Amino acid sequence: MTFSTRPRIDEDKVLQALRTVMDPERHRDIVSLGMVSGLAVRDNNVQLAIEVAPERGTAAEPIRAAAEAAVRRLKGIVSVTAVLTAQKKPTVTAAPPGPTARVPRPGLPTVSAIIAVASGKGGVGKSTTAVNLALGLRANGRTVGLLDADIYGPSAPKLLGITGKPTTNDGKTLEPKEAYSLKVMSMGFLVPEDTPMIWRGPMVQSALQQMLREVNWGVLDVLVVDMPPGTGDAQLTLAQQVPLAGAVIVSTPQDLALLDARKGLNMFRKVDVPVLGIVENMSTYICPNCGHRADIFGHGGARREAEQLGMEFLGGVPLDLEIRVTSDAGTPIVATQPDGPHAKLYRYVAERVWDQVRPDAPQTARRPPPRIVVVN
Ligand code: ADP
Repeated sequence: MTFSTRPRIDEDKVLQALRTVMDPERHRDIVSLGMVSGLAVRDNNVQLAIEVAPERGTAAEPIRAAAEAAVRRLKGIVSVTAVLTAQKKPTVTAAPPGPTARVPRPGLPTVSAIIAVASGKGGVGKSTTAVNLALGLRANGRTVGLLDADIYGPSAPKLLGITGKPTTNDGKTLEPKEAYSLKVMSMGFLVPEDTPMIWRGPMVQSALQQMLREVNWGVLDVLVVDMPPGTGDAQLTLAQQVPLAGAVIVSTPQDLALLDARKGLNMFRKVDVPVLGIVENMSTYICPNCGHRADIFGHGGARREAEQLGMEFLGGVPLDLEIRVTSDAGTPIVATQPDGPHAKLYRYVAERVWDQVRPDAPQTARRPPPRIVVVN
């Protein structure tokens, strides 16, 4: 029997490879120029960021591509993701020792907590949940922003009935749009709906950084980030680069069973972002005519599954025609039916999220790590 022994890749090997990549403008390699601002190597998976002056923007894309190619040539490499970043912060030539050295995540000075709403795959109601959760937080008295980072299919403009482009007062920062007392920014405002969204990794990165940092969010208790669906490299990098206080995972009962939610959980663990809990969407069906409840996808398992995964179960939102109709009409249910049962439910979920991220939240409010269950 033969065992494949992959050569182990460490930071030194990666840096050595990166020393072969030149910055054509400054005629030196990117490591000695201090452009490598973060490096994470784990099980032969490599992530790094390359700092460039903001004015160079995507013109620096060839450097990024060359860096990825150089690392990809290392023997035993499993994956490599290099992103361009234009943050003005002190650079380091290499990350401190340790397997989880990460790209630093500077916060937003006027925003108390940034939370992500994520899902293992598309179509589970992530955006609907993000919008109604944001409105639930608002209804509970918080000041709230919504950043629609679902760059592949931005839905905030439609869900909140917002049209038009954002304006700028100083020529540098964009003013967020406002709807139902939420401050909102979405790639959908900036790009016409019929434009094909062929965003490549670094462009997604810089678009998100811009929407995060070059928007006049003002003072917010919470900024809710509607993440792109899935748990691939692009999502991982986003999760890593946004200074997140925590993440809410949206899942349907089937996805819980099919492990999609677990992928979401694992993604945030990798980047040390606390998972605040799981919202089970479309958990039961309530007949619009007779009010009868039917557990189409099997109800009740989610709480158990969540507990097993060490995740808080934040609540189950029924599959209800009213939620779909109000979403599609740009009149979200929490704002337009504030005394209805759905608004109550989303406000309840919102309060449980807020309890974990509020500035005075005790650390113990965070979920303990999941129990390890040994199956014989
Ligand atoms: P995602 O962001 O995960 O792709 P969306 O929020 O866009 O999902 O939802 C997909 C579709 O499902 C939309 O038409 C939305 O109105 C509908 N939907 C989401 N949640 C519910 C729900 N609880 N009940 C009924 N329809 C829902």
